[in-house]
Amino acid sequence: MTLRIFNTRTGLKEDFVPIAPPRVGMYVCGVTVYDLSHLGHGRGAIVFDVVRRYLAAVGYQVTYVRNYTDIDDKIIKRAAERGIPWRELAETFIREYVTDMTALGVRPADIEPKATEHVREIIDLVAALVARGAAYAVDGDVYFRIKAFPAYGELGHRDLEEMLAGARVEVDERKEDPMDFALWKSSKPGEPAWESPWGPGRPGWHIECSAMAMKHLGPEVDLHGGGKDLVFPHHENEIAQTEAVTGRPFVRIWMHNGFVNVNQEKMSKSLGNFFTIRDVLRKYDAEALRFFLLGTHYRSPIDFSDQQLEDATRSLDRIYRLLEEVGLLAAAAAAGPRDAEASTAVAGLDARFREAMDDDFNTAGAIGELFKVARTVSGALARGGGLEHATLAEFLGAVRRIGEVLGVFSSEPAAWFARLRTLQQRGLAGDVDAVWVESRIAARVAARAARDFAAADRVRQELLARGVTLEDTPKGTTWRLKKG
Ligand SMILES: [Zn+2]
Repeated sequence: MTLRIFNTRTGLKEDFVPIAPPRVGMYVCGVTVYDLSHLGHGRGAIVFDVVRRYLAAVGYQVTYVRNYTDIDDKIIKRAAERGIPWRELAETFIREYVTDMTALGVRPADIEPKATEHVREIIDLVAALVARGAAYAVDGDVYFRIKAFPAYGELGHRDLEEMLAGARVEVDERKEDPMDFALWKSSKPGEPAWESPWGPGRPGWHIECSAMAMKHLGPEVDLHGGGKDLVFPHHENEIAQTEAVTGRPFVRIWMHNGFVNVNQEKMSKSLGNFFTIRDVLRKYDAEALRFFLLGTHYRSPIDFSDQQLEDATRSLDRIYRLLEEVGLLAAAAAAGPRDAEASTAVAGLDARFREAMDDDFNTAGAIGELFKVARTVSGALARGGGLEHATLAEFLGAVRRIGEVLGVFSSEPAAWFARLRTLQQRGLAGDVDAVWVESRIAARVAARAARDFAAADRVRQELLARGVTLEDTPKGTTWRLKKG
């Protein structure tokens, strides 16, 4: 099987043929750092995190570049509202973004360039476009000349008139064509500015991605991604700026992920259904959010609701219960019976996972395959009261490999149960830190083992004072929060 990926530019699923295998250059447009990231940013980050992990898992050497737009009108405006320097605002929200991505299990990109650190490259690129007649300067601004690039609109499959009707184009009589877009903007007094051949100014938004992709990955990149909202104008503009200089295709495959809706409505601040990543993670586990987002194909829209996240949490919990049971049986000395159906299902899991992923990263199908095998394993355990060691070990191994790609099913079951308890109990009785409770329980177990029953009882009282009751069972000590 070859990996096939849907290419927005051709509108077809294509075989993935990198320029210089096994190397793969991958560029994804990052965030403009002026506010906390919302669920839509989270989806994009997770989608491309999985793409990158999968490419690495099948043997490619991936260089993943994801930028930060750290100079922009929105940043300047927000910083002015807060009365802080624009750089400070940008740095703050870069840190916040890293915090969110870490919480989501999104691995850092190999290179995370910032626009402000590439102004030299941006100016050189703009100058090259001017020299080729693809751009022109007016009063300190520089515009791309749409007429110089006949393929404009090819990515979104639209002609100039359709784009003009759909775009809110600034009327500016200095532009030769209403669709011409800014590559370089002259600075107003008091605004951040860099020296350039056209006077003091700053880069337009689109040009930074062309400059940074070319600098870090070369004139042609294998994969370029972003949200569907970036197709036009951002990615059309990237293609125009880059190809007008290089004279060859900029990107092998353009990938775009779909939107996140909330309760079947577009997420927006004015509708009051706008969620930051942080809002969601206060209520749900990050792994449940990943699992939910990966349960729909990346190109389709996805509908977020509490019900969906609760369902995702329950499904994930079923898998972790099975993994716990399988782990205990695999570690036990006594062997269970061989089950032909289970051993066949488990042996085929890796291949079926790969088949689904090779079909345009069909994570929903891939997760479905895992659940099918999990049901078979569960059934065999119930029938036979156990399973042979080889099947158990193979199942654990396959789930681990799948977890490495998806970033779900990859916790220790005990860690998952502890995180889940914390979230559930937060809902019941405010914040009791499950990690703290577990550590006190461990102290009590140690005291009892040393036959220091007075110390053990002090721990029980200490926990009781915080509303935590303990219950000793043959399998160990469990705990719950007293209600009310
Ligand atoms: Zn970009």
